[in-house]
Amino acid sequence: MDRVYNFSAGPSMLPEAVLEKAAKQMVNYEGCGMSVMEMSHRSADYEAIIGNAESLLRELMHIPENYKVLFLQGGASSQFAMVPLNLMKKSKKADYVITGQWAKKAAQEASKFGTVNKVASSDDKTFTYIPKLDPSTFDKDADYFHITLNNTIYGTRYTTLPETGDVPLVADASSNILSEPIDISRFGILYAGAQKNMGPAGVTVTIIREDLITGAIDGAPTMFDYKIHADNGSMYNTPPTYSIYICMLVYEWLKSLGGVEAMYAINKEKAQILYDYLDNSSMFKGTVVKEDRSLMNVPFVTGDDDLNAKFIKEAKAKGFVNLKGHRTVGGMRASIYNAMPVEGVKALVEFMKKFETDNK
Ligand SMILES: *Cc1c(COP(=O)(O)O)cnc(C)c1O
Repeated sequence: MDRVYNFSAGPSMLPEAVLEKAAKQMVNYEGCGMSVMEMSHRSADYEAIIGNAESLLRELMHIPENYKVLFLQGGASSQFAMVPLNLMKKSKKADYVITGQWAKKAAQEASKFGTVNKVASSDDKTFTYIPKLDPSTFDKDADYFHITLNNTIYGTRYTTLPETGDVPLVADASSNILSEPIDISRFGILYAGAQKNMGPAGVTVTIIREDLITGAIDGAPTMFDYKIHADNGSMYNTPPTYSIYICMLVYEWLKSLGGVEAMYAINKEKAQILYDYLDNSSMFKGTVVKEDRSLMNVPFVTGDDDLNAKFIKEAKAKGFVNLKGHRTVGGMRASIYNAMPVEGVKALVEFMKKFETDNK
């Protein structure tokens, strides 16, 4: 069977060029006589890989000098705990905006370590929009302010960032990192699990402003202390070596395409093709308010469960896979991360048009 167009929300599609390069290097990495998987993380060869991964990421995201880049494990879900364990130190209070399941889970985790102020929520309309924020509801003494930049399940994204003054802004960027330019200097911490838009599962990238690395609260596990990882160059213990290597290949691929700015133009084009069709279809419609639509995750419905199921089944048979929506939204969701080519989105829209005609 040929490769399919994989619209999975995560783990998701990787660039074919990256997979091919990894396949070539699988058994014997650049004449080392071993696979990257078999290398000591303390070896010169591996030091070069992780060093290259970090410098490529810094270049692609224009990460300022006063930020550290950490390659961690435990997924974005561990960051939900690690952020409060390291930042809830003064007032032990934090502001959270609830824009979906992941934001909810992040807030829940933080509430184990301090007081969570839910600044706003879009729960009333199944998270189909980003709530308008009123700065007078922000806690001036909060230790940080947390947002989920792109909401993977519901298909919304922030287009403007909250003005939080001296309170550090912390963001979960798991599903939009490297898809659009992000001004790192606006954030205290930006974190992302790799498996949506950056590489395979197993590595989580945390970009943290140096003044926020002051050690975790008393009693926190060593592995949950940013200072331990920063002081040891992400090598306090064995990092997810192979996942980091694949991320390095993804960063090289992205750089060769012209970087994040070039990718952003392609992503806008892809999203536009799909949204334009949804806006004009009499069968399918998008579930999110127009101004907050994600460029990465596009949920849509027909309004008829049987028709949704028929669509998903026939799409799969044609090589458009993983289009089933999240159980809390229903219908369909097409995740169109960086690795999804424009042709994949065009082909999906052609298939949707035909399905619409055939099922009138
Ligand atoms: C997938 C996802 C998570 C969970 O990531 P894990 O790596 O599985 O812990 C958290 N936040 C967002 C925005 C996600 O898309």
